[in-house]
Amino acid sequence: MINGQASDASRLLASSRRDFLRSAAGLTLGSTMLGSPLARAANVPKKRKVIVVTFGGGARDQETFAPEGQENVPNMMRELIPRAAFFTQVVNQGILGHYVATASLATGVYETINNFASLPPEHPTAFEYYRKDLRRPSSDAWVVAPSNGFNRIGESSHRSYGPGLGARVILPKYLLKAAMSRGSTDYEHLLRDNYETPYYTPELGGSEFELEQLESILKLSVDNFKVHARTLSSPDELSLYIVRQLMRQVAPSLLWITMHDIDIAHAGAYSLYIEGIRRTDRLCAELWKTIEQEPEYAGKTTLLILPDFGRDADNDSGGNGFQHHRTGDALSRTTWLMAIGPGIREGVVYDRAVDSVDLVPTLGAMLGFSASLCRGKPISEVL
Ligand SMILES: [Zn+2]
Repeated sequence: MINGQASDASRLLASSRRDFLRSAAGLTLGSTMLGSPLARAANVPKKRKVIVVTFGGGARDQETFAPEGQENVPNMMRELIPRAAFFTQVVNQGILGHYVATASLATGVYETINNFASLPPEHPTAFEYYRKDLRRPSSDAWVVAPSNGFNRIGESSHRSYGPGLGARVILPKYLLKAAMSRGSTDYEHLLRDNYETPYYTPELGGSEFELEQLESILKLSVDNFKVHARTLSSPDELSLYIVRQLMRQVAPSLLWITMHDIDIAHAGAYSLYIEGIRRTDRLCAELWKTIEQEPEYAGKTTLLILPDFGRDADNDSGGNGFQHHRTGDALSRTTWLMAIGPGIREGVVYDRAVDSVDLVPTLGAMLGFSASLCRGKPISEVL
């Protein structure tokens, strides 16, 4: 848990966030001018879809939406921010490992499972609440994740939920590995899996099951997939390619995309970290364009984008700045969230503190399920 001192530091960070975005994008401060929730609800289409993107793994404000970082996120600044509600203070009070933090975002409870083990979350995921409460088929909730360690994130081990009620998970690298099984070494850069520990390298699947997913669900031939993959530069680009195919062919109403290229920062090269942020910025804007172009999504989709967490502060002697997220300091725990879509107020900044576990109850309020076991509260400003 975050201690008192860290929480004071979070508040200080927040006050410096007051001008975080308004100056650059001409945005208004939201807290004083909340409109009527009823009036906004009237603008929300009935067959609403929600897409969550984690701007992962681990991005600090100073390289993203803080004034000195905005040059690294030009696409979101130009195309998304003017249409979004933006929260400048999202606090993650859990374990700062990518899998366990993303699992916590998906359950609305700070999970304590081993970050480096292939384990399901212990509390029900948003996917399970959604499918069970609304009796939705398995085709309606999907996760696309870059790292093999995420293959269990779709459903929890909770006895009232769990097997058969979760999201289907696509790991695009599994697909590529399967497609390559006929021999090729051109794709190593897309198969890089984990930036943190050389001791955790789970075996890639690459079986007939993945090939069937490719062909029968995504309607991609192995040959076309391989040709296209050759044009891509990173695992997250591969994920977006798969996401687009999934949106066209399956059109799930709850879609969760975990990005991870930014975590290359662990290698210690600042330029690679910035390159990861710039690519993720571009992919987020491209995803929004896809949403607006796809008939199944246009005009009825809410997009939520947030980092899983930040990275260590430069001045924390316990860490090594941007390279890692080991200290648990306020900067590494405090990030942002943007929401964009019908019914959400545009160009508004909210400074109040939101908690990472507030995401799931917010999804519940948007989609109509009750996240009864989660610990957070719905973010009322976007409902
Ligand atoms: Zn990391």
